[in-house]
Amino acid sequence: MSLRLAVITTIVGALLAVDATSAAAAPDLREPHVDTPVTWESSVDSSRYGRSSANDGTRALATASTTSKKRHSVQVVIATPKNIPKKRVTKWVRDSDVDRLLRETSAYWSEQSGGKITFARSGRVHRINTGDGACRTTKQVLKQVKRGGAKHYGKGWYSSSNRGPDRRAHLVVLYPYGKGDFAGGSRYATTCGGKVGLASMPSKAGRDSPGGWTFSLFGGPNGYNAKQRWNHGQYKKGVSTLAHELAHNMGLDHSGVGWCQGKADGDFRSSRCGAVEGLDPLDLMGAEFAANGIPSLSGAHKRRLGVLPKSEQRFVGKKGGNRTVLMTARHRDTKRPTLVRARDPRTGDVYFIELRSKEPGVSYPYTRLPYKANSNYTVRYGISVSRMAGGGSTWAYPGEHLIVPMGPQSNRRSHMWQGQTFTTRSGGMKIKVVNVAKGKKNAKIRITFP
Ligand SMILES: [Zn+2]
Repeated sequence: MSLRLAVITTIVGALLAVDATSAAAAPDLREPHVDTPVTWESSVDSSRYGRSSANDGTRALATASTTSKKRHSVQVVIATPKNIPKKRVTKWVRDSDVDRLLRETSAYWSEQSGGKITFARSGRVHRINTGDGACRTTKQVLKQVKRGGAKHYGKGWYSSSNRGPDRRAHLVVLYPYGKGDFAGGSRYATTCGGKVGLASMPSKAGRDSPGGWTFSLFGGPNGYNAKQRWNHGQYKKGVSTLAHELAHNMGLDHSGVGWCQGKADGDFRSSRCGAVEGLDPLDLMGAEFAANGIPSLSGAHKRRLGVLPKSEQRFVGKKGGNRTVLMTARHRDTKRPTLVRARDPRTGDVYFIELRSKEPGVSYPYTRLPYKANSNYTVRYGISVSRMAGGGSTWAYPGEHLIVPMGPQSNRRSHMWQGQTFTTRSGGMKIKVVNVAKGKKNAKIRITFP
């Protein structure tokens, strides 16, 4: 079985991010945006839609200001699919399953954030009939979200100015998978038209975010036998899906791959650059559903949330001169840097450098590494160079994290070989991989400003 590439759509106001796995989907290669900055309301990409309402269910309310900033609260609703008795859904998704889902999601986030972000349920688990129970379109999902949120915040909350998810609060609407929909199942990626999640996204990222709402697939008829349900994809995959959606609520966008035509590894301001959104299987904000277990969040995203310790970051600019940096794999807890930010003095562009290696509890059974993610793109552990788009980007959405692929156009890859040098398009900075230690636990990088 091959990895189902992410085809992602997003809506805004604040934004919604739809995460989908689709069996038939080809990579969604975005066309160049020429000189127009890419905005969330961009009409260039038809998969994103703008919304004008200021009331979009993501307002930050003030009442949580006295509670711990490390604690996010979650209000849960279980939705009922069409033609399924509510009683059956109650068997598929028990309150104890919800609590385990939140416990595991919280444990992941706590680990990623050094204890700065945790999630805990507040209020009882509500169960709603959803009428037609449809979830193929964003509009249909929104209908469920509005109906579900009413159980916690009262009717009309979605357009209300003073009700809805609080700061650091999240409405989580869980919807069961359909029969046969799991990795390796006969009807994989059919529930909700292949959509696995949807979430609102505020424009500003941070762990003290306004909060928001998410829709996530979780549980179902194929794995619910009490003894084995948490070994089944319909249950355990729910953890990575929810962890990803909650990241959207905190303002994070996707991790993918971006490159420029005609010139290898060029600057992304080029009008000839395109991107494949969400293509990175080694990142929570990429195609994390390709993994068993949950891959780490990229350092650039962690930094954006304000949860990456200073001791793990190293900035290299021309002022400090040429520099050799010893770094450690991003998931390891040593006192060495896991994220290097290197600034090209000629363009001001910042490049992120990370060492990505096998993480405990994370494997890629369907997409063994190295993985040929596209006809001209291979993913593998090793040193990666990436960029995160700013608000004026003409190549990516604000906050989008894209790996700058290495190698010539016909043989691109996510990582650099030992001994390889990456030169920014301006020629103002060179990044050389001097050495990658055995087991890819540590690496030595040389950054120079010719
Ligand atoms: Zn997403």
